[in-house]
Amino acid sequence: MKSERIIVVGGLNQDLVMRLPRRPSQGETIRGQSFGIFPGGKGNNQAIAAARAGGTVSLLGRVGNDAFGDMLLQTLQSDHVDASLIIKDAHQGTGVAMIFLSEDGDNIIGIDPRANGLLSVADVERAESAIASSRILLMQLEVPLDTVVAAAELAKRHGTLVMLNPAPAPEDGSLPAELLHHVDLIVANETEAKLLTGIDPADRPGAIEAGRALRDLGPRQVIITLGDSGALVIDDAAEPVFLPTYAVEAIDTTAAGDAFCGALAAAIARGSMLPEAVRVGCAAGALATTVLGAVPSLPQARQISGLMMTGQLRESRYAKSR
Ligand code: ADP
Repeated sequence: MKSERIIVVGGLNQDLVMRLPRRPSQGETIRGQSFGIFPGGKGNNQAIAAARAGGTVSLLGRVGNDAFGDMLLQTLQSDHVDASLIIKDAHQGTGVAMIFLSEDGDNIIGIDPRANGLLSVADVERAESAIASSRILLMQLEVPLDTVVAAAELAKRHGTLVMLNPAPAPEDGSLPAELLHHVDLIVANETEAKLLTGIDPADRPGAIEAGRALRDLGPRQVIITLGDSGALVIDDAAEPVFLPTYAVEAIDTTAAGDAFCGALAAAIARGSMLPEAVRVGCAAGALATTVLGAVPSLPQARQISGLMMTGQLRESRYAKSR
């Protein structure tokens, strides 16, 4: 029997964020203005986004047997994400992202996946019954590709809907055909869509062409998120549909895509049709831009429904008249 559960297979990082007055030149040491440690990683963020949006969520991933890992597990617990499938690696530490934010926006980011890089096919196979009993498997590309492929294959075999956010997109733009063949729904932003298809979704015809090219790679349903212009939905039957997002005062777009994917999965898991679920995703993405940071910005279900009931739609640069 399928529950409404969403199982996320993905990466967890501890983000170490320092604000600098400017980008240091080579060999230079400069004094930071502030420092903070924040939960991150797209698997972690999307699991929390889905749970806050009302979903029942489990996360499968690897952290280290260290303080960073414990902090991540605590955050998940306080957001009611089931973390019982998360493995504490005995040898590798928790994934870390070191982020230097400079005043002029010229940021420097280094990521070491550490334990995330050890999430294995065997780990996925051990979680077979959890994947089989879930309605949706939601994945990104921060863990080894063969693990992602194995999870997709397993989910497909058990009739679990496979949702892929291909982020970060591989630099050469190629994903294994066997993976895309198992994906039911792909959610890519403009950069990812362009990398995977070679087509720039910068205008209406380009976005439709890129969306169709993504669908030709295998997924039955394609969503391209278009930042403050909302999202494009392409599925087999209907015409392409551009859905606008909500007008908000955006101050930091970090994790807008994670909020979108998590809330979208939560809506689909409770039975919403795709266009309605995309509206929920847009509302969540919009709300995420109104708060600084990643996890702190992921909205709760009541904020999402509030914006959908009372918010104004934003004019999209993809609107037909343009
Ligand atoms: P990513 O964060 O992966 O780059 P996008 O920038 O496309 O993804 O954002 C994901 C979704 O969040 C968009 O489809 C949109 O619905 C919403 N969103 C993003 N930026 C804004 C904004 N400035 N105003 C309103 N909604 C936004």
